[in-house]
Amino acid sequence: MSVLTTANLGFPRMGLHRELKFALESFWSGKTGEDDLLAVARDLRRRHWLLQQQAGISIIPSNDFSLYDQLLDAMVLVGATPARYGDSHVGGVRAGLRRYFDMARNSAEQPALEMTKWFDTNYHYLVPEWSAGLHFQADPTSVVEAFEAARSLGITTRPVLIGPITLLLLGKSVDGIEPLSLLPKLLTAYEAVLRALVEAGATQVQLDEPMLVTDLAPEWKRVYDTAYAVLAMQPLQITVATYFGTLGDNLEVAATLPVSGLHIDLVRAPEQLDAMLAALPPEKTLSLGIVDGRNIWRTEYAVAKSLIDRAVGVLGSQRVVVAPSCSLLHVPVDKTGEDKLPKGLFERLSFAVQKLDEVRYLATADAQAFAANAAYFDEQRRLAAEPSLVREKLARLSETDFSRPQAYAERAPLQRAALHLPLLPTTTIGSFPQTQEVRSRRAAWRKGQIDDAAYEKFLEEATADCIRRQEELGLDVLVHGEFERNDMVEYFGEQLDGFAFTRNGWVQSYGSRCVKPPVIYADVHRPEPMTVRWSKFAQSRTSKPMKGMLTGPVTILQWSFVRNDIPESETTFQIALALREEIEDLERAGIGVIQVDEPALREGLPLRKSEYAAYLDWAVKAFRLATSSVKPETQVHTHMCYAEFETILPAIAALDADVISMESARSKMALLRDFKAQGYPNEIGPGVWDIHATRVPSQDEVHSLLDMALESLRTEQLWVNPDCGLKTRQWPETEASLRNMVAAAKAVREELAKK
Ligand code: GLN
Ligand code: ZN
Repeated sequence: MSVLTTANLGFPRMGLHRELKFALESFWSGKTGEDDLLAVARDLRRRHWLLQQQAGISIIPSNDFSLYDQLLDAMVLVGATPARYGDSHVGGVRAGLRRYFDMARNSAEQPALEMTKWFDTNYHYLVPEWSAGLHFQADPTSVVEAFEAARSLGITTRPVLIGPITLLLLGKSVDGIEPLSLLPKLLTAYEAVLRALVEAGATQVQLDEPMLVTDLAPEWKRVYDTAYAVLAMQPLQITVATYFGTLGDNLEVAATLPVSGLHIDLVRAPEQLDAMLAALPPEKTLSLGIVDGRNIWRTEYAVAKSLIDRAVGVLGSQRVVVAPSCSLLHVPVDKTGEDKLPKGLFERLSFAVQKLDEVRYLATADAQAFAANAAYFDEQRRLAAEPSLVREKLARLSETDFSRPQAYAERAPLQRAALHLPLLPTTTIGSFPQTQEVRSRRAAWRKGQIDDAAYEKFLEEATADCIRRQEELGLDVLVHGEFERNDMVEYFGEQLDGFAFTRNGWVQSYGSRCVKPPVIYADVHRPEPMTVRWSKFAQSRTSKPMKGMLTGPVTILQWSFVRNDIPESETTFQIALALREEIEDLERAGIGVIQVDEPALREGLPLRKSEYAAYLDWAVKAFRLATSSVKPETQVHTHMCYAEFETILPAIAALDADVISMESARSKMALLRDFKAQGYPNEIGPGVWDIHATRVPSQDEVHSLLDMALESLRTEQLWVNPDCGLKTRQWPETEASLRNMVAAAKAVREELAKK
């Protein structure tokens, strides 16, 4: 086989040691200036280009780097910055750096753009705002600057732009304008950008159109062809990149676009290859996304090679490109420094740098690399076939293990009697302020500067103090405050078998924010109780019910890197089983209320509607597996921090949690109408204090929210609580807000008693 062309779609921006994060934060705090920030940014970009060149990648991207977010850059590029940022466009990142960051981060005079998840990843982008008054005046300065900077290193890059249709679809209309009507103006701006690139010497461009893997309305499907016909008039080879799933019913549209190449994701959707090979017109190249850009595992060459062979068989080697499935933005930079991993894990990992090597080995069919890879995977399969206690336990489960023996209607009175709760019980979501002191004690303990005993003593004092304050405030169901937890997933991962933690496995979440997801690499198992010690201690300090606090199975899965050798559902069930054992232990320790947080349940929703049902089915089952072995008197709570429930309301009801708390202060209880419409039977705590704002809600404000809630709910259904955990708040505002919340609940109770 001859050597195939290799390409990369994008490289992580932050740097191995999060250099960009620190440079940004130092700039924002005023410690360093614009030149310092840009120097760090340029150095990272340069290093990453050279690294890709050394890896032997033939098509290297530029403009994949961003100081904050690629969608924000795209808005600047086409001059589509919202009116409230002034009439003129930002005018190049350099010239308008301050305003560029204001759009992302808020300033006194300029509220930030909304942020939302980039498809089904944990990356968040800034949502473009469409309005009739937009000028769309192209400003190619930064794209051209990036292209030229790479060329000065001897690298002729393929600039990356968000495709125009994906850009329009990801934005939101702020004045009722139909985004599609902006397409002609937007295309004119894109043409100007492409022209500037041609003038700078570019011969290729990558236009990302991941919206092609989603359900598209017919009017959007229809414009793809004409839009690209306009862009294709520029003397540039355009590759349209699709990723994160199968093209499905958009395959024909994608295959026949009037462009020179198409990239498809064969990791998420290998089954689309044959249909694509049949549909692809002659002359067009096909870029095969065969190295997983979304996960951290080594590629099995035999599997990837069979896809390559099929493509080469039909298209010939000239028309096939080998690439990662999507931009490598979603994986950490380099595994080289990972020296603290459990045995055997290092060999299994592949971060961005390793993935580029894999692309090269695949393109060259490197015999030595292939032999080593095959031997390795044979051994893995042998190990995977060994019996596992967890898998045996899961195999023994029956239907009854997934539901509570009594229905909610029977459980509710038993719980009310056992817990002695008033109407409209008050509670909080779990965490209380993680003050500077809490964080510095934990850091000192981690560094070995204070011993276990001293740290435990500190945590006991913090917990006891938190309970005293809650009693003084008059809350009905107390929490221990979560002072012992750094992060709601990491805390559990550290105590469960099957989880590993990396040193540098950072992934950008948004702006300068990075996360270091735990790595689930083996069967999940709970060697011993995880939270019982703290819940028991907390319960011993009060006669009020103490709520046990756990992170749910779906959320633990969603916020980790997960195995790719077994289905996600199976890993989730393993986690659920561990939580089930924990919940049983909590119950035995005298905890009568247990909350299982699932803030990530909704974000796990697949991109295609046709796949919702299968996902929700196992997600709900996992929650029920975790929570259904308790006595009817034991009250199960869940919490979710979002308000858009419409699509998943039946699934929320199917969780059969006795109480659900969720965000709703900002939306003024709008979601309760949906709950009412669908006849949601169990108890609900719609948040009455927007904890993302620093202001203290007045008693009247809470009172009127509760009145609103009672328009949709029965009195016995309503709980009173904030929107979310209080970890990021300070004590004074926390106490003031909760005091008003409790007072409002009492006032409403009195009014109800008079009726
Ligand atoms: N129990 C968690 C807390 O209060 C819930 C966090 C969340 O909803 N993301 O912090
Ligand atoms: Zn929350």
